[in-house]
Amino acid sequence: MSAKRVRSLLIHLLMAAAILVACAPAATEAPPAATEPPQVATEEPAVTEAPATEEPAATEAPAEITDTELNVLCTPQEQWCQGMKQEFEAKYGITVNYVRMSSGEALARVQAEKDNPQFDIWWGGPIDSFVAAKQEGLLETYESPNFANLTDPAKMKDVDNQWVGVYVGTLGFATNTDWLAANPGVEAPTSWDDLLRPEFTGQVMVAHPSSSGTSYTALATVLQLRGEEEGWEYLQQYAGQISQFTKSGAAPAKFVGQGEAAVAIVFSHDIVNEIENNKLPLVLTFPEEGTGYEIGGMAILKGAKNIQAAQLWYDWALTPEAQALGPQYAAYQAPTVEGVELSHPELLEVNLIDYDFIWAGENKQEFVDKFTNEIANAENLKE
Ligand code: PLP
Repeated sequence: MSAKRVRSLLIHLLMAAAILVACAPAATEAPPAATEPPQVATEEPAVTEAPATEEPAATEAPAEITDTELNVLCTPQEQWCQGMKQEFEAKYGITVNYVRMSSGEALARVQAEKDNPQFDIWWGGPIDSFVAAKQEGLLETYESPNFANLTDPAKMKDVDNQWVGVYVGTLGFATNTDWLAANPGVEAPTSWDDLLRPEFTGQVMVAHPSSSGTSYTALATVLQLRGEEEGWEYLQQYAGQISQFTKSGAAPAKFVGQGEAAVAIVFSHDIVNEIENNKLPLVLTFPEEGTGYEIGGMAILKGAKNIQAAQLWYDWALTPEAQALGPQYAAYQAPTVEGVELSHPELLEVNLIDYDFIWAGENKQEFVDKFTNEIANAENLKE
């Protein structure tokens, strides 16, 4: 067995062990456990485990491309949306128009345009929103030949082929190191309970779950870790610690890096971006009792006008070639297909809960409404 394969196995074992710990005493109202942890490709795919397929991978354009444009609803950060647009245009000669929106806004837009969709494909953002959209009949079924590239098709793909995972990212905490230096004796949080410590009152920043998929992932993580009754009590206290809710999920890492508060709850790959590329004084920590993670989703919208171009994007986004592009555009999420080297494997080597995406998606509207109506409204969100 190669060293790479051993490392890959070790990471899977670590994640499995982590889940056992995270799931230890089940709270009475905890949602039904999901099946398995995510498996992401860590290195070259092992030849023996390569997905069996007779089909050639659909990485090339069909003989005749008739669509001339593609409208993409893009939920990851602007830089990655722009990069993917340019790469796709260069490869297929199809003009890509995209609009970047946070996940909650994207879902609301898809709902509002149900009878006359303006977008062909929705790319990125936690899968919970795609699960919610599927429930409302807003997504198109498409069976991509490149599903064969997925490392974990059972987890990364809808059973009815209405959505698929294009990346994986874990939730973390970003703490301003200058603030820590100015507050001797205070340490960066390493548990969800740490966020409730008096020294962090008014010092925590997170997006609002109505607009942000990041923030909804945090909410659903807490409910799964603690059970609903205790979870909502915790969320009430957590909201009391917040300095300001933002609209976008990644923004709190930037604001905390600029000294507007002490701690941000953000996807860890976004924290890495602020530390490595923007040189902000942040330290990344994880809640030791377990953190949630996202599968970033993709779906063709029901009624898409440029269906051929949408399918081309869909197939392309499930190739190792396209998924390896992320780090060039400051996106450090883990891939969902075989054959891509992870830019930051350590972001997955943490204690992950067995996040139940279907449960989180199917309850999204109810939980967001409850949070908005009973805990913190969505007025005056910081941009
Ligand atoms: N940006 C990045 C880099 C992400 O990974 C994600 C989540 O998929 C988002 C943005 C989603 O943003 P928001 O939390 O604003 O919905």
